Amino acid sequence: MFETTIAGSLPKPSWLATPNVLWAPWTLSGAPLQEAKEDATALSIKRQEEAGIDIVSDGEQARQHFVHGFLAEIDGVDFDRKVRMGIRNKRYDADCPTVTAALKRRKFVHEKEARVARATTARKLKFTLPGPMTLIDTLADGYYGDRVKMAFAFAELLNQEARDLEKLGVDVIQFDEPAFNVYLDETVEWGVPALEKAAEGLKCTTAVHICYGYGIEANIRWKETLGESWRQYENTFPALDRSRIDQVSLECRQSHVPPELMRLLPNKTVLVGAIDVASEKVETPEEVAATLTLASKYVAPERIQACTNCGMAPMTLGAAYGKLRALAKGAALARKQL
Ligand code: ZN
Repeated sequence: MFETTIAGSLPKPSWLATPNVLWAPWTLSGAPLQEAKEDATALSIKRQEEAGIDIVSDGEQARQHFVHGFLAEIDGVDFDRKVRMGIRNKRYDADCPTVTAALKRRKFVHEKEARVARATTARKLKFTLPGPMTLIDTLADGYYGDRVKMAFAFAELLNQEARDLEKLGVDVIQFDEPAFNVYLDETVEWGVPALEKAAEGLKCTTAVHICYGYGIEANIRWKETLGESWRQYENTFPALDRSRIDQVSLECRQSHVPPELMRLLPNKTVLVGAIDVASEKVETPEEVAATLTLASKYVAPERIQACTNCGMAPMTLGAAYGKLRALAKGAALARKQL
């Protein structure tokens, strides 16, 4: 009950990349960069273990961004043809590479860091990949001329990657789909089917993470426009509950998501976001326990995992790991109280 895990990314040390920014430039290059990525991966796992996290991740230390990391080894994506686009329904601008030809995975993209991560820990290991809808929302299309077709082409490549990760001994494969909170009807129409395609044939645990984004300025401003009650999950949870995905990771702490929406996931393990990633202020264990106790009114406690609201890549190292310690202590407290 209340096993602890994280949504995915953690801050990178300054000897690896510029701290506290998204799409952080690498500090090194060539072989020293590869060495630093592997060291940072192992270190982040050890620090998660020390903090008391049960299901650890590679902390996404070896990729510049949760979407573009996977794209780096995909034929058909041209990183030299970047287009400034308003992504997530024009919430913020990003320089997006262009798809210029049929998509093909050149190699097992995340093999190196997954191997390091697996060798570093005996605990359960989670590995994150971008979901198909979020992937195509972070790209310019100069080839397919059809968003859905492009999403399914990516789903096929993600499935190849996920199968390789499973073979390597990863316990949980999580697809990140923040776009599911933006394109509500499309999520039900083809987003969930594309996600299932990406997870097809996997025997390991599968998860989907759906959030309101990193704690960056543009997201904070967007959240202010969503009103007092954030009901986006209401549209998508029923479709996800019918899907073959095992776990759903959602935002809870300091959000305006009505907690009763968790009732819409009666067949899933629910990863309850008990850590706010938009603030550097570290939660107390009592605050974490209160979020978990609230969630257990709507979800059987055996089906709850204690998690962060989103990735922590843009935060400071001190706050991020402080929050992970609070998460573990809070989960222990909630277990005792129940
Ligand atoms: Zn997120």
